[in-house]
Amino acid sequence: MNIGSQGPVCENEVRETQTEHVAQKRLRNRLCMGKKVKLFADGLAYSAKGFLNCRKNTKGRRFEKPGLTERAGVMETSLERIRQQIEQLAQFNETPGNGCTRFSYSEEDRKARQYLKGCMEELGLTVSTDAIGNMKGRLEGNNPDLAPIMCGSHIDTVRHGGNYDGIAGVVGAIETARVLKEHGITLEHPYEVMIFAEEEGSNFNAPTTGSKALAGHLSMADLKRLKNDQGVTYYDVLKNAGYNPEGVEDLKVQPGDIRAMLEMHIEQSVLLERKNLSVGVVRGIAGIRAYVMEIEGMSNHAGATPMDLRNDPMVAAGRIITALPELVRNHGGPATVGTVGRIECVPNQFNVIPQKVRFTLDIRDVDNDAMDRVLEAVRTYGQEVANQDNVSVTLEKMIESRGNMISKEIADVFEDVVRERNIPYTNMNSGAVHDAAIMTEVTEVGMVFVPSINGRSHVPEEYTPYENIKEGCDVLLDAVLRIDQM
Ligand SMILES: [Zn+2]
Repeated sequence: MNIGSQGPVCENEVRETQTEHVAQKRLRNRLCMGKKVKLFADGLAYSAKGFLNCRKNTKGRRFEKPGLTERAGVMETSLERIRQQIEQLAQFNETPGNGCTRFSYSEEDRKARQYLKGCMEELGLTVSTDAIGNMKGRLEGNNPDLAPIMCGSHIDTVRHGGNYDGIAGVVGAIETARVLKEHGITLEHPYEVMIFAEEEGSNFNAPTTGSKALAGHLSMADLKRLKNDQGVTYYDVLKNAGYNPEGVEDLKVQPGDIRAMLEMHIEQSVLLERKNLSVGVVRGIAGIRAYVMEIEGMSNHAGATPMDLRNDPMVAAGRIITALPELVRNHGGPATVGTVGRIECVPNQFNVIPQKVRFTLDIRDVDNDAMDRVLEAVRTYGQEVANQDNVSVTLEKMIESRGNMISKEIADVFEDVVRERNIPYTNMNSGAVHDAAIMTEVTEVGMVFVPSINGRSHVPEEYTPYENIKEGCDVLLDAVLRIDQM
C-alpha cells in the first residue's frame, strides 16, 4: 500500500503492514479519539481522508477538520524514499569508490542541486537560489502574513567524506514537504526547505558561509579576500559557477523573517550509538575558542649545550600541552573540551634545540564563560611555565565563535514529539558547529541528531542506519506540524 492511498480503511483505527521492518516493529500505544489504540510504525499512515473517516465513524457524526497538532505522531515518512534519495545524491560524487567529494559550486554540486530542484518542483515547491548559493524550496501556507518555518541542512561534503552529513537533513526536510503534500495538508505558515551553501568550508577554509550570509556575517570584501587552493577568489568561483554574488550583503535575515529553523543532522559522535538511542534533542551548540600559542626560546646545538643552559621552547610546549586536560577539568564546565591538534617547530631539526614552537589550542563548549575561564587558565599557566623555563609565550586568536543556546521552546517541542512516538532519545549538546548554530542569531532554532555508527563522519565509513534517519524525519515532520500551530 502506498503512503498516499486515500483508502477509507479504519479498522479499529489500526493499519498494519506485512513488511514490518525491525525498527518499525516497535509497538506503540496511542491515545487516539479518546481510545487507547495500537499503531505500528510501519511506514504507512492514515491518509487525510482516512483520518476524517475515523473521526466520523468513532463519533458517529462528522467533525470539523482535525487540527494539525492531532496529526503529529500519526503520519509517517517513508524509509524507502529516504533511502532512495540519499543513494541518488551519493551518485553526484567526484571520487567514486573513495568516499563522497562534493564541494559547493562544483559540477557535482550543480548536478545534485538540479536533481533536488526537480524533486522539490515535483512537489509543488517554488525553488530559488540566492547570491551565495543557498537553495530554497518554498511551499506557501494558508496565512501569507506568517513567516516561514524553515527546515534544512547542506549537501556539500569534505574531500572523501560520507553520504549522510548534511544530506540526511536535506532529505528529511524534503520528505516532510512530501508527506504534507500527500496528505493534502496546507500549513498556516509557509514551509521552506533550505539547502545551505558551503557548510563544510571545503573550498575556502571558511565554513558555514551560506548561513553566515543569512546572519549578516559575509561581506563582499570577504568574497574577494577568501581564495581556494587554486588561488581563485570566492567571488570569482561564484561568478564562474553562474551565481551573482553582488547581492550577498542584502541576504541578512531580519528579526521575524523566519518563524523557526529546524535541522536534523547526524551526531558525528558516539553517544547515541553507545546508549542505543535513536534521537538526540540538541539543547545547545558548542562555540569555539581557537588560538595559537607561540613559545620562543633560543636555538642552540643539541650536543654542546648543557641542560641547565637551555631555553627550550619544546619542553615548555610539552609541559603546557600535558597540563591542558587538567586545566580543562579544573576551570571548564562538565562539557568543556580542549585539544592541541597542530604543532610546528622551527627549525625542526633533530640535532638543534628549537628556536620557536607554535601549537594550536581548540577549546569548545556551549557555555561561553567556561571556555573563557579555560582560555584564561591556559594563558596564566603558560606564563608560569615561560617564567620558569626562560622562554616567552604569546597567545594569538585564530577563530572565536559563541556557544549557542538552542531555543528552549523548539527543543521542548522536539522532546514532546519524540516522547509521543516512543523513540528512545536523550537531550544533548552538539560539539560540532552547524548552520543551525549560525541561524540562532536570526531566528529560533531547533536541532535533532541521529546516530553516527562508531561516531565516524567526514570519512567514507560515515554511516547512519536508515531506520534512524526515518525516525529523525518523523520527528521533524511532527515538530513542523506543532510549531505551525503554536
Ligand atoms: Zn554537516
